[in-house]
Amino acid sequence: MLARVLPLAPPAAPDWQADYRAARLTAADLLDRVGLTAADLPYGLAPAPDFALKAPPHFLSLVRRGDPHDPLLLQVLARADELVDDPALLTDPLDEASFTPARGILRKYGSRALLLAAGSCAIHCRYCFRRHTDYGAMVLPVGGHADAVALLAADPAVEEVILSGGDPLTLADDRLAALLGALAAIPHLAMIRIHSRTLTAVPARVTPALVALLAGLGKPVVIVAHTNHANEIDGVVAAALARLRGAGVTLLNQSVLLRGVNDSVAAIRAHALRLFASGVLPYYMHLLDPVAGAGHFDVGLTEALGLEQQLRDTLPGYLVPRFVREVPGRLAKTPIWQLAG
Ligand code: SF4
Repeated sequence: MLARVLPLAPPAAPDWQADYRAARLTAADLLDRVGLTAADLPYGLAPAPDFALKAPPHFLSLVRRGDPHDPLLLQVLARADELVDDPALLTDPLDEASFTPARGILRKYGSRALLLAAGSCAIHCRYCFRRHTDYGAMVLPVGGHADAVALLAADPAVEEVILSGGDPLTLADDRLAALLGALAAIPHLAMIRIHSRTLTAVPARVTPALVALLAGLGKPVVIVAHTNHANEIDGVVAAALARLRGAGVTLLNQSVLLRGVNDSVAAIRAHALRLFASGVLPYYMHLLDPVAGAGHFDVGLTEALGLEQQLRDTLPGYLVPRFVREVPGRLAKTPIWQLAG
């Protein structure tokens, strides 16, 4: 007798929202996940950081176990250096509060408008220039993007809308679909850009539903991944990036130049090559914004200029990220060579 063949159940989709929930943890838990204790650290910990720790499971799985200097660990662990009181470091280093014509909108750059679409992130990066931002007052309200979209629709000077945050990919699919759909219906928008650190933090977020949403928008979509080191791009992240490419999304990457993380030619070179192998072009290398609590990550201008020149000598030009600094009040990022001498 022939055995009855039962239809196979489809594999369960990874629960990306569970990864978000698991990201909030104590320093002791975080260290335990990477095979360390506080006693192993050659640096101190910030006892009660005002910017809570958040590191999702996939990101932590990429940290080298037992290495207190791991370049991924240093991005998410609150070190005692955060407590250094330096009057040159600010809570709003880019003066963003001055560029907010309406709740949720930032008009810092000529033909581009930023939408602060979400007030939370999958991961808390210790160098973040918005680590002191009161998102409650600045971010688009839940279910309330209509006013902001109407303002953008009435301003033909806006050619590109950039979804920022927080991290826009923390939004649930229905909210993201409603917002993107409303933006895609604005005739004078040539493209929609999404900045996200989620691709490396929670690659499971790139679900078939998200891919279908982006593929069906009817406008070119650019996603700028935020990654800082080659080790952030493993096979799982590369597969998520490939799914986005399959949806016709243009993929770029921006990084922040961070002391102890990617402050060498070898590290930036390896990162650029890993990005290219995943179909992503390096776009920007930002010098650190002078934000309170992050001064220990700073790499000076002279050193940055030297790194950029050495990269030009060893990589094709299209793989050398543009080294820039954001200067409040300027309509675009400033190449750092313009700041020298
Ligand atoms: S994901 Fe982006 S906005 Fe969120 S903490 Fe990191 S750098 Fe800041």
